[in-house]
Amino acid sequence: MTTVLLAEDDPAISEPLARALQREGYTVLVRDDGQGALTAALSGDVALVVLDLGLPDMDGLEVCRRLRAGRSSVPVLVLTARTDEIDLVVGLDAGADDYVAKPFRLAELLARVRALLRRRTGDVLEASGVRMELASRRVWHDDVEVHLSNKEYELLRVLLEEAGAVVTRARIMREVWDDAEGGASKTLDMHVSWLRRKLGDDPQRSRLLTTVRGVGFRFERG
Ligand code: CA
Repeated sequence: MTTVLLAEDDPAISEPLARALQREGYTVLVRDDGQGALTAALSGDVALVVLDLGLPDMDGLEVCRRLRAGRSSVPVLVLTARTDEIDLVVGLDAGADDYVAKPFRLAELLARVRALLRRRTGDVLEASGVRMELASRRVWHDDVEVHLSNKEYELLRVLLEEAGAVVTRARIMREVWDDAEGGASKTLDMHVSWLRRKLGDDPQRSRLLTTVRGVGFRFERG
């Protein structure tokens, strides 16, 4: 299990965020103060820290500095409403890896969490001759690079992560478009169609991306 440490003193943020991270399959540790967060992060069992800058006892920047001073290389994603400090946060000074400005979109934050965890592991997703390198966000089909828009990339990523299984329309809408309703969407069908074209897949005789009527889509695990 991948453990995410959430250091946030505002329960109106930490509670729904912890639930969302758990739904993504992470084990979540919540700390509402800087010292507690630092101790938990240095324990070594934490794969990623989501760190609020405005903590009651110790500033998040200080938590981050002490983590790095303690030779921890755990990825740190900063939450901040203080956008004027972002340069400081992600610069060499504090040693954070990325930030999300408050108020944030849940889907965006979850995407940053996944990206940071992947950068760490250097993951590659691959199925049916399609290869996605997550650290560089590059995609190849039969060794030819395919250039995708951001949404096409995210759509393909969700499908490749579950290659061989059906991914429901609702889940795609939630993960790629941050649409909790998961309503019927022409946008999704359009992006599927663009993605098929870029991958050279014939919708009538699909070999890669199969439509499962009334449910969703399946990327074939060839
Ligand atoms: Ca706070």
